[in-house]
Amino acid sequence: MTTDLQAEIATAVDQRRNFAIISHPDAGKTTLTEKLLLYGGAIHEAGAVKAKRAQRHATSDWMEMEQQRGISITSTVLQFDYSGYTINLLDTPGHQDFSEDTYRTLAAADNAVMLEDAAKGLEPQTRKLFEVCRMRGIPIFTFFNKLDRPGREPLELMDEIEQELGLQTYAVNWPIGMGDRFKGVYDRRKQQIHLFERTAHGSREAKDTVVDLGDPRIEDLLEKDLYYQFKEELELLEAAGTEFDLAQVHAGKLTPVFFGSAMTNFGVELFLESFLDYALKPGSRRSTQGDIDPTYPEFSGFVFKLQANMDPKHRDRIAFIRVCSGKFEKDMVVNHARTGKTVRLSHPQKLFGQGRQSLDEAYPGDVIGLNNPGMFAIGDTIYNGKKLEYEGIPSFSPELFAYLRNPNPSKFKQFQKGVNELREEGAVQIMYSTDESKREPILAAVGQLQFEVVQFRLRNEYNVDSLLDPLPYSVARWVGGGWAALEKAGRLFNTVTVKDSWGRPVLLFKNEWNCQQVEGEHPELDLRAIAPVA
Ligand code: GDP
Repeated sequence: MTTDLQAEIATAVDQRRNFAIISHPDAGKTTLTEKLLLYGGAIHEAGAVKAKRAQRHATSDWMEMEQQRGISITSTVLQFDYSGYTINLLDTPGHQDFSEDTYRTLAAADNAVMLEDAAKGLEPQTRKLFEVCRMRGIPIFTFFNKLDRPGREPLELMDEIEQELGLQTYAVNWPIGMGDRFKGVYDRRKQQIHLFERTAHGSREAKDTVVDLGDPRIEDLLEKDLYYQFKEELELLEAAGTEFDLAQVHAGKLTPVFFGSAMTNFGVELFLESFLDYALKPGSRRSTQGDIDPTYPEFSGFVFKLQANMDPKHRDRIAFIRVCSGKFEKDMVVNHARTGKTVRLSHPQKLFGQGRQSLDEAYPGDVIGLNNPGMFAIGDTIYNGKKLEYEGIPSFSPELFAYLRNPNPSKFKQFQKGVNELREEGAVQIMYSTDESKREPILAAVGQLQFEVVQFRLRNEYNVDSLLDPLPYSVARWVGGGWAALEKAGRLFNTVTVKDSWGRPVLLFKNEWNCQQVEGEHPELDLRAIAPVA
């Protein structure tokens, strides 16, 4: 390996930042994404992302399902350049019916942006996604959105994060007024106020009027009462506030906080600039060969998501691979760690929204989409050079459970094959009753949509019908220490035990309350919402 190549990779890594947005539906993720892309020059008009999606959906019967429900099943990767950086936004499905893919995408992200509606604060989906970020210890940036509408007090919003997530906060900018009286945000780094202009519709890069904190015009510009309130809050922040500590940000313990309004494109660029200053570049990753640095000159990466039938014309599958080290080049031949086979990486694709561009090279932190000839499974490693395998992607606590029945015994084999392949692909988790007489698989999903996708694909790809028989559980916990630990704990109340695909015990509860009860009665039991990698 030449040192030239290493220098090239190092430069590419230094320029790269990747992140995923975690939020609850309606917080404004689509809107924020569009505004970020606008700054990156990747699109020229707000609304383009949605329009493009709608257009493509119209041609697809697979996407019919998405369209009927007005949601996006697919998550994609958006790459854009800004201020000398190449930014990869790993887009996660945002609907209520989110799936395990939403969690898995976070396994490929180096940073997360936690987007909250300032009127609502922390919401359930955000909390769950936050737990995955916490587990990975990645930096979390908070953006409070919709300041142009009445919302909760900024201090209260930050306090909620501190109290409920145990995450320290540091306001990088601070809002002046809110709703009808939203005047702008104060940039604490540069000690400047960015004035909000209601006329801006945000379809283009927003015009930004900036005044220094010391400027005598401010009192008038802001209106007296708001000005004094702002000064008071600022003093409070300075006196009681946390020190900014970048190491703590990188450790995922302190979140830089921003306020703005994505719809009117206010505070978005300010956020983007700070984000680029503070975010982590692609880092090293744990493997069987120890931590692999991104500048290690041999190519390696892992599969974090499989997507079926994104393009209805081809009915193909795409494996999404996060590049971890070295340089990816089109048509390169790599080793597939799990099977020991070699595979030529032809037809690589860069994905932009639902569109595809062919891709000739990629660097650590990038995501490539490969046509999957059926050999890839979630968590698989591909590599060159010495053999290595990256730590797999864990299973995440499902919340919906149902027996999947085969109404047509003559199609038993096809049914079995379909269920197994969809499980391997990660479309759904499969569990089994501990009662040997009940052989039917239990589908376990994070969102209702996963059930529909499984039934749809069984019918379309395997030509088998299926019936769902819902089970009344909503919480699952894996047991650290396995069956032995479970046996030792003795009889447990208000829970049933099932096996996951690896034969490990999983406790199912009707509700969170029952789960907490068992945890309270059996502090010795190590119950986990995220399964250890099998
Ligand atoms: P997502 O479900 O998180 O992707 O949310 P969307 O981006 O689709 O936004 C949900 C709704 O909130 C839409 O009607 C947006 O127009 C609106 N919205 C998003 N950002 C803002 C904002 O900054 N201010 C206001 N007033 N509305 C917003």
